[in-house]
Amino acid sequence: QIHLETKNLSFTYPDGTQALKNVNIQIKKGEKIAIMGPNGAGKSTLFSHFNGLTEPTSGHVEIDGEKIVFERDELLKVRQKVGIVFQDPNDQLFAPTVKEDVAFGPMNLGLEYDEVKRRISESLEMVGMSGFEDKTPHHLSGGQQKRVAIAGIVAMRPEIMILDEPTAGLDPEGVDKVLDILNNLNKEGISIVISSHDIEMVNHFADKIYVLYDGQIIASGDKHQIFSDK
Ligand code: ADP
Ligand code: ADP
Repeated sequence: QIHLETKNLSFTYPDGTQALKNVNIQIKKGEKIAIMGPNGAGKSTLFSHFNGLTEPTSGHVEIDGEKIVFERDELLKVRQKVGIVFQDPNDQLFAPTVKEDVAFGPMNLGLEYDEVKRRISESLEMVGMSGFEDKTPHHLSGGQQKRVAIAGIVAMRPEIMILDEPTAGLDPEGVDKVLDILNNLNKEGISIVISSHDIEMVNHFADKIYVLYDGQIIASGDKHQIFSDK
């Protein structure tokens, strides 16, 4: 069952930069996918299409077989289903306390106060950050900030989670913690898409890998197909 799919997705920035060229990728329900590629390959641009933050120049994105429609109510539904964790926690963490940061998404869904509270404690527990509710996000370590950013998305109960370089800049212990969290979320049925430069980590983590280069998918397959020495 295909969870998220791009069909001949192309995107050109207003200055004429062709960031994506006929990208076709498929994410099946429950899969762990990695998108690899150098800086400037188009990974962030691709991810911003996955929940309708960016409208394609041509081609389209389908979630559960339905095209993303660029209308307010439809986009709200898509953004609840597809949660994106940005690369830089500073883009995501802006409230004075951890609990307010994690509350932001669920509050926007219009949930009752009790339900918001339940989701805060549940998602902080999930990322191993219980007890940090009243701390200031900017005083936390990079790895802790990353985990709070993940909790904020988990609290929306998405079906698909997209994470841009989730382990970049973390020490080995921080990397392991984030990967454990992602594997646990995946066991609960959430499809996971990450971008990364870390071949070893991706090799270990992903069911399927796509290599993006200059806006095009130049290779795809499981780790044996991508990393075999021929
Ligand atoms: P990353 O490798 O993390 O995607 P980039 O350096 O490509 O980071 O981009 C950082 C920010 O600068 C992004 O918000 C991106 O949209 C913007 N950006 C990148 N290239 C350009 C450009 N040529 N013109 C304008 N903005 C750009
Ligand atoms: P990656 O995430 O793989 O580093 P990006 O999606 O950030 O790649 O960038 C893909 C291409 O689009 C790069 O050539 C980048 O310079 C360009 N780009 C990114 N953001 C912008 C922007 N806002 N305006 C113009 N070009 C951009």
